[in-house]
Amino acid sequence: MKELPLGLFIIPDDGLEMRLRTAKSLNITTAHVLTPPRKQRTADNIQLLKTKFKEATVEITILFCGFEGESYASIAEVEKTVGLAPEQTGNERLRECKEISDFSAALGVNTIGMHMGFIPGDINNDTYQRLLKQTRELCDYCRDNKQRLHLETGQEKAEVLLGFINDVNRVNLAINFDPANMILYGAGEPISALRFLGHHVKSIHCKDAKWAENPGQDWGAEVVCGQGDVNFEAFFMTLKELGYQAPLTIEREISGEKQIKDIENTVAYLNKLKNIF
Ligand code: MG
Repeated sequence: MKELPLGLFIIPDDGLEMRLRTAKSLNITTAHVLTPPRKQRTADNIQLLKTKFKEATVEITILFCGFEGESYASIAEVEKTVGLAPEQTGNERLRECKEISDFSAALGVNTIGMHMGFIPGDINNDTYQRLLKQTRELCDYCRDNKQRLHLETGQEKAEVLLGFINDVNRVNLAINFDPANMILYGAGEPISALRFLGHHVKSIHCKDAKWAENPGQDWGAEVVCGQGDVNFEAFFMTLKELGYQAPLTIEREISGEKQIKDIENTVAYLNKLKNIF
């Protein structure tokens, strides 16, 4: 079996050169990248990003959507502000997703990713029905750009996400599985969720976390890979069973020196486990 490449989640506004140097020095050859803000999505910037990633020999495999006004300060804030789910910004953000799809196409990236926000468990709920319609519209837009759309796990239980994906019913819709998010949001045990979501998982984040005392109400705590409650050995064995073939993308949502150190430690940790594949 061919070796799966390592990847890194990169926010371009936050020390891009340093991130790319880190990636290069650690033999990380792919990246998930947060889309720059609207005013930076210019032809010049597309060229600049292409050049910088090419020089670092890092391939962008997914461009993630992010929107002004999103807040991850608490689970309740996420519910109010993140993704397409909040009603007051849903239509405007759908338009922006299409712009991001075009921006990705110009960069030569064939997948966009996003947090949809909290998908309601009740299929008769108005928000559920609106999200269904908007996701179909976005999938069809991405299809015309020869792209896939990956929804990131975390906010809802795996059963709700799988039901939603089946209801959207588009072949270019898949899942970016973040095992730590399942724990951080209290959305369910990650390995059984991965097994349940199965072949819909086409990309992942290697991120770890510890459960909160009151899962689903309070945030769990994100920690460096290998020190949390994600069982990475079981995670990789399950991915292998599923025939997973995409990068192992490291995400560490802190900044500064400690982030770099933790990324280095994670690469060493994942390299030890990679022989599972
Ligand atoms: Mg993630």
